[in-house]
Amino acid sequence: MVDPKDVLEQVRSQASNCTRCELHHGRKNAVAGEGPADAEILFIGEGPGFHENEQGRPFVGAAGKFLEELLGKIGLSREEVFITNVVKCRPPGNRDPKPDEIDACSEYLDTQIQAINPKVIVTLGRFSMHRYLPHAKISEIHGQAFRVKGRLVVPMYHPGSLRPVIERDFAQLPSYITEVHEAVAPEPVPETNDEEPKQLSLF
Ligand code: URA
Repeated sequence: MVDPKDVLEQVRSQASNCTRCELHHGRKNAVAGEGPADAEILFIGEGPGFHENEQGRPFVGAAGKFLEELLGKIGLSREEVFITNVVKCRPPGNRDPKPDEIDACSEYLDTQIQAINPKVIVTLGRFSMHRYLPHAKISEIHGQAFRVKGRLVVPMYHPGSLRPVIERDFAQLPSYITEVHEAVAPEPVPETNDEEPKQLSLF
């Protein structure tokens, strides 16, 4: 069997040399993501900002500080979770990633998710939410849990906005994680499967 750590390392090295979209022109460092290869919880943000591009690490600026604070409040540290983004290179001026850039990068994220096999995926912001819930409005579903592709997906606002709302949504994560531990887990299906999301009625 292939070691998930090797797969993640391969994604890191491929992303560093990637020319699949325009974003590589402004790249100082690709930001593949970081965390344990067997993390139970995976966070998916939008894309690297200035500091992330400088350091090659996700969420190291102001949004990252807030994310660490939120994790701390539910008894987790950033070392225990995997943190990545929908695009691995910084969009210029921190603009939104474009659909063709997200498409060009999605194979990296698919591969990371397959390798890590997390039980819970927390999407931070609209772009990562749309990967799982393409028709959803974040204002209507943030903080709720959905069963998608055999995993629990919890959409949240990006930690650059709406602090009190994110704090409330984050506070619910421990109960979702407990439910996931207790539930009979269905087999995860490949990331490339287009399965309809089911809202979890348990919560
Ligand atoms: N915002 C994101 O979405 N990702 C990062 O890595 C940093 C800020």
